Amino acid sequence: MRTVRPSLTFSILASLACLLILTWLLFSLLAFKTAENDLYAQKGEHARMLLSTFVNQLPDQLPGFPEGMLPLNTSAAIYASKLSEERSFERLTLLDKAGKVIYSVGRDGSDLYRPFSLPGRQVEESGIAADGGMLIRSVQVIRNGEQVGRAGLILSLADEQRRIKRTRQLLMSYFALDFILLLGLGAFVLSKIVVTPVNRLLSATEKITDGVYGHQLKVTGSLELARLADSFNAMSSALEQKQHEVASHVAMLEQVNSDLQLAREEAVRSEKMASVGLLAAGTAHEIGTPLASVMGYAEILSQELEHNPAQADYLARIMDSCGRIDRIVKGLLEYARPKQAVCEEVDLLAIVQQTVELLQHQGMFKGVQGSLTSTGQISRLMLDPHQLQQVLINLLINASDAMPNGGVLRLVVRQEPDKNMQLLEVWDSGTGIAPQNLGKLFDPFFTTKDPGKGTGLGLAISARIIEGFGGKITVQSSVGKGSCFVIHLPVHMKGNTE
Ligand code: ADP
Repeated sequence: MRTVRPSLTFSILASLACLLILTWLLFSLLAFKTAENDLYAQKGEHARMLLSTFVNQLPDQLPGFPEGMLPLNTSAAIYASKLSEERSFERLTLLDKAGKVIYSVGRDGSDLYRPFSLPGRQVEESGIAADGGMLIRSVQVIRNGEQVGRAGLILSLADEQRRIKRTRQLLMSYFALDFILLLGLGAFVLSKIVVTPVNRLLSATEKITDGVYGHQLKVTGSLELARLADSFNAMSSALEQKQHEVASHVAMLEQVNSDLQLAREEAVRSEKMASVGLLAAGTAHEIGTPLASVMGYAEILSQELEHNPAQADYLARIMDSCGRIDRIVKGLLEYARPKQAVCEEVDLLAIVQQTVELLQHQGMFKGVQGSLTSTGQISRLMLDPHQLQQVLINLLINASDAMPNGGVLRLVVRQEPDKNMQLLEVWDSGTGIAPQNLGKLFDPFFTTKDPGKGTGLGLAISARIIEGFGGKITVQSSVGKGSCFVIHLPVHMKGNTE
């Protein structure tokens, strides 16, 4: 089960709120206690002054209980009755030597005596009543160095308590305001200096998890966070470098692998071609000699059968088939032992034009719309013009065969400067070639034409001739749209052919 965790902002703010409340509690405890003590001390001092003024005005001889009370016309009694009109006044009491009440005056006029809850052993004593509402102060009355009585004053602390309560309420409001402000400010500052950088670090590490290396962070703020960001950046760069290294190793391995594959295919092809060539040469030689006799005798026989049309027709068919066998045999021999090339400096464009015209005279390209264009500089090449023409004838016949109902034939001569190659492109808008046949086009005997129409040797011989010049033939095709055969001829090829 996934543990529910509070967010960083929430945790920090909760801690901050607890700290603020704790601080306020401590502060208010201290502040209220100090304010209370100050107020009570002031009140005590006030009571001391009032009491000492009263004591000073007492006559030297105090009347003793029960004989008499303090006469009301004495200045002390007048002062005391004036004092009783004060707001905080509660009671003033005078005791004789024996501790009996000889004078007492209360705020409300009542004469209820309230004994001092003080021990009465000290010259001056003061205290707060148990309910906290009264301040009690007493002082010894001393005449001629002898204690003749004791006076006590009780003052109400209601005013002070009201003030303390008001102050507490005010402080509470201030605190609430401070709390909200500090929490808001704290949240803002914390999110700026901690939460935002941490979130940025988090999203950056998530990128690394997703495989996006090299991401660099710019974290401003505290030293630790900046160091964390630096260390993250270093890690990210190191990972990116490692990724590049791995990618380049993989690319290198793939290249080596494909080179190996090509080399293997080339080796297999060369071996196949060599054995096919060898077999073809032997077979062609063996077939060629008897075939020549058959054709010779058939020729003689044809003159004798001039008046027998039925037999002459059979003979014509025999000669036709022999002619086909002869073409195959010659093609095989050519493939197995190509004629030695006689190289000379040729004008490629001129050869292309001558070949097209030659085929046109033979009635080819009916319904075909043809064009010949050349772009860029055209180099003069060193090669055998007859062999090149043979290749071109093969390609043009194939293009024409691919467009039985007419179409577009485009011949383009251009140069590929980088590779120093002169290119001759033969575009047709014919049937196109199925992808699975593209790899077999240059194999001897590969044909899709009807029996008797194609030998499957044209492209194999053409490829051999162009390879003899140091070039190559490439092809691209799209079924239903057409094909493009490109003859690549190296510009410097003197050393390639004899
Ligand atoms: P052949 O013409 O005797 O069949 P090639 O070696 O010249 O022998 O051609 C081999 C095969 O390549 C052809 O049978 C045909 O299927 C295919 N081919 C060659 N050129 C084209 C082209 N321009 N359009 C479509 N198919 C082509």
